[in-house]
Amino acid sequence: MKKIIILGATGSIGKNTLSVIRSNRDDFSIAAISAHTNEEKLLKCAHEFNISHLCLSGKKPDSDHIDYTGEKGLLQMIEETEADIVVNGIAGSSGLLPSTAALRSGKHLALANKETIVMAGRLINELAHKNRVNLLPVDSEHSAVFQLLRNKKQEEIAEIILTASGGPFRKTAVDDFKNITLRDALKHPTWSMGRKISIDSATMANKGLEVIEAHELFNIKAKNIKVLIHPESMVHSLIRTLDGEMYAQISSPDMRIPIQNALTYPDIKYSTFGFLDLAQSSLSFYNPDKERFPLLFLAYQALELEGSYPLAFNAANEIAVNAFLRGNIGFTAIHQTVMEALNADWSLQAETLDSVMKIDRAVRTHTAGIVKRLTEL
Ligand code: NDP
Ligand code: MG
Repeated sequence: MKKIIILGATGSIGKNTLSVIRSNRDDFSIAAISAHTNEEKLLKCAHEFNISHLCLSGKKPDSDHIDYTGEKGLLQMIEETEADIVVNGIAGSSGLLPSTAALRSGKHLALANKETIVMAGRLINELAHKNRVNLLPVDSEHSAVFQLLRNKKQEEIAEIILTASGGPFRKTAVDDFKNITLRDALKHPTWSMGRKISIDSATMANKGLEVIEAHELFNIKAKNIKVLIHPESMVHSLIRTLDGEMYAQISSPDMRIPIQNALTYPDIKYSTFGFLDLAQSSLSFYNPDKERFPLLFLAYQALELEGSYPLAFNAANEIAVNAFLRGNIGFTAIHQTVMEALNADWSLQAETLDSVMKIDRAVRTHTAGIVKRLTEL
């Protein structure tokens, strides 16, 4: 039986992970879970699965059943708890240090938190290698590519094609983007996810982060990573080999499938989540355009500029999305803010985790200044 730690157990990825474990009680047990502020849900989940190691990282708990608190407590829980796999479902850049704690303590990492890879891809790959543990992508597109690459040699791969639903505004006239409200932007057509990633899906900054994530995870140049809009969200990604053949991973849009695959790796187990009936489906694909989704193209630029530009793209976008979520800036100002933040010099490459954190903080301060100016306009 594999022992699992779930970070961000009260979020969307957390909920899906719990559902996978509920359906496979003989294969998995939960050793520890974390939440940031939702103490009630954390305790409910601990009760259902009889979990003794609990962490509330964002506020002082009322219950004395919670042994670990704060950011430090979270890292300590990950290191001290005996487990095989850590599922990282924390939202945003706060997921980075917990990922490093998991790898350092010799646990496999099932990674939904894409920020970990975008911020420190090279260092994370090195840590996994050094500690002889697996980095298992949970992001549906990367899980798809990971499965597709299992029987292929690196030198046979010509291209990775990430699919994107196109979000709620793939058909909205670009002139109307200025009228988009928070409610409109949170309504994703095919996936139910946390607030930050839902906004990123609407701007396609999420796909931009995923291009960077694919580059780091699979060691593929940016020019060989393509994005196709596929509104049905059934083909989760494709690869093209040198001979021109293409291979696709197809399944229903259900995060429990990539989560289960990460937990059962290297095995593939029976799924109780239903099967896709292709006879009832039609699949369509088209190219994203620059005017509608400028943040996707900005992510490519950040990747080509190298240095700390990908890190800066992530941090600036996080600040801009938070400002939009709080109602401080409009939808189109998210792109404006990130573009302006990337005009500063972020060419210095971060060689250590400390310098990643330092540059990340500098980008955030710089971007907060841009947001403040836009708010005062
Ligand atoms: P949610 O917002 O639904 O959940 C976030 C979880 O992280 C909650 O448990 C929350 O606790 C906890 N959390 C929030 N802030 C912090 C913090 N500062 N420190 C520690 N824990 C924190 O997010 P999602 O589940 O949607 O996304 C999680 C990650 O997975 C993101 O990186 C996202 O990009 C990625 N992802 C998500 C997908 C999805 O389908 N949702 C698909 C692919 C990738 P609390 O409830 O107490 O606030
Ligand atoms: Mg994804």
